[in-house]
Amino acid sequence: MPAPESNRATNVLAAIANGPRDPFEIATCQIAPPQAGEVLVRVHACGICHTDLAVKLQHIPIPMPKVLGHEGAGVVEEVGPGVTQVRPGDHVLMSFGSCGECPNCRDGALGYCDHFRAVNLFGTRTGGSVLMRNGSELGGHFFAQSAFATHAIATTRNVIKIGDDLPLELVAPLGCGVQTGMGTVINVLRPRPGTSIAVFGVGAVGLSAIIAAGIVGCSTIIAVDVVPERLRVAQELGATHAVSGRADDPAAEIVEVTQGGANFSLDTTGVPAAATNSINCLRARGICAQVAAPPRGTLYAAEASVLVGRGLTVRGVVEGDANPKLFIPRMIGLFRDGRLPLDKFVKTYPLEKINEAVDDLEHGRVVKPVLTMREIGSVV
Ligand SMILES: [Zn+2]
Ligand SMILES: [Zn+2]
Repeated sequence: MPAPESNRATNVLAAIANGPRDPFEIATCQIAPPQAGEVLVRVHACGICHTDLAVKLQHIPIPMPKVLGHEGAGVVEEVGPGVTQVRPGDHVLMSFGSCGECPNCRDGALGYCDHFRAVNLFGTRTGGSVLMRNGSELGGHFFAQSAFATHAIATTRNVIKIGDDLPLELVAPLGCGVQTGMGTVINVLRPRPGTSIAVFGVGAVGLSAIIAAGIVGCSTIIAVDVVPERLRVAQELGATHAVSGRADDPAAEIVEVTQGGANFSLDTTGVPAAATNSINCLRARGICAQVAAPPRGTLYAAEASVLVGRGLTVRGVVEGDANPKLFIPRMIGLFRDGRLPLDKFVKTYPLEKINEAVDDLEHGRVVKPVLTMREIGSVV
């Protein structure tokens, strides 16, 4: 007799994080069918973001084993009961999840959902585990997706329908990293044309911020990083100046370049010294955004006379303050216009090469690794 519909599970391949020092393990596991409000996505590509690595390293303590991945892109394979927003065959990006019910969600501030940690980091889902292996629960539904796999269960709240002509492996990082960088500039800092901005750390988030700063018309765009190759890419993508993060006093160099300090700054590194420099490099009434997720307990130092005396604003930002259903289509418009050249910093790796991709990311050999699942036999 066939299994009842509710118990039906599909075999999928996933990269499993077992612990901080263990390499990712590629293994077959079982994914549950979509329930009400959910969507089963055949994943074609998923970017690797620093938050994936921070969780694997237990900088953010989440129970293991777990399937990570939160920049998934793919094609809807099946929808749960009552789902009308997307249908099988639709191409979608997956972004972060949100509850939709709390005061911040109702106010449109989805990145500050009261249940952000539960929904995204812990992957809480009503109706039990999304993924099982050998009969035991496997942490799934990370960021309402767990997309380091051939299939993912997402929700109608975090899938964004996109054109089926778009290259999924290039647009996948729009779901988190690129959205964080561009959104912080466009939605939060909102620089006027002709102003200056310093971006600390020019990985995928920082480069996206630099591209956005160029789009909104900043005339002085300063990239700060410890990796010379990244500074070169940043200049190719619009940075007008490059400052080595290993300089004696990067903030002083920025003050000199800008003749008195930058109007805006952004720290993507979460390194306390860089965060402090991102405050110290500002001119009076400057605004600084902090977007990194360093280990719990990390403190950023700001000198009171600088903070108060210059009338500075320092603001934490999650996911670029973006509502992905509105902001991702805007970024896709920029991509189509050739103003968001994702191909300049995305490099693809097949899912089974995830450990090589992570190693390359950790050693600065790649800016944005994107895993691809096209060639892997899906349903076993
Ligand atoms: Zn909420
Ligand atoms: Zn991320």
